[in-house]
Amino acid sequence: MEPSDVPVIAIDGPAGSGKSTVARRLAVRLGLDYLDTGAMYRAVAFAAIRQGLDPVDADPVAAMARQVELSVSDGVVVVDGTDASVEIRGPEVSRAVSVVAANAGVREELRTRQRVWAVEHRGGVIEGRDIGTVVFPDALLKVYLTADPEVRAARRAKEMTDLAYDTVAADIARRDAADQGRSESPLVEADDAVTVDTTGLGIEEVVELVAQMVERRQESMS
Ligand code: C5P
Repeated sequence: MEPSDVPVIAIDGPAGSGKSTVARRLAVRLGLDYLDTGAMYRAVAFAAIRQGLDPVDADPVAAMARQVELSVSDGVVVVDGTDASVEIRGPEVSRAVSVVAANAGVREELRTRQRVWAVEHRGGVIEGRDIGTVVFPDALLKVYLTADPEVRAARRAKEMTDLAYDTVAADIARRDAADQGRSESPLVEADDAVTVDTTGLGIEEVVELVAQMVERRQESMS
């Protein structure tokens, strides 16, 4: 089976746009599995730091990414047998992840793993930055979530209770600029994506809106 044979709902967008919450709930609503590809990039950054690699050293980090055992499921991230669910959200990994995500070798490896995951799980709701543009160009539905920068920073600050708003705002502005400016799979809206601005919307409204789009798409294909 090919990745294009299974139903993939691609959810892309910048940090704090609501991707994770929306994707997780949408998956439950549609009876599909959910994959957080950002957690995979964070897990590779975590593994690099733990093994004493400099995240900017492209070849050793890419070689490590090809070897590392990763499991990302239900919010639990296991890296070579160690539960890293908390550490991957911490400031050290958040600082290193942009450079790891700009590494072409790392991206190639994670792309392959994401496509294998989709086939094994018979489709899914997959969130990230390049899911509709690069990893699953034939996705059933591509959604690009956005929100005003202040709203995105406020959402992240609420999740990261130990960090001040200004610190969180600066971190997501830096990561967005890096994600949008890199040459490898930059964060960009797919031509055939539906944009949803979540600024003034509640989570349930967004989930319902997207679920209806998926159902309409499925009906039009059957
Ligand atoms: O989604 P999250 O903010 O946890 O992602 C962390 C980082 O992983 C992003 O800032 C981005 O650099 C990278 N990423 C990516 N491609 C994806 C998912 C995440 O480059 N598909």
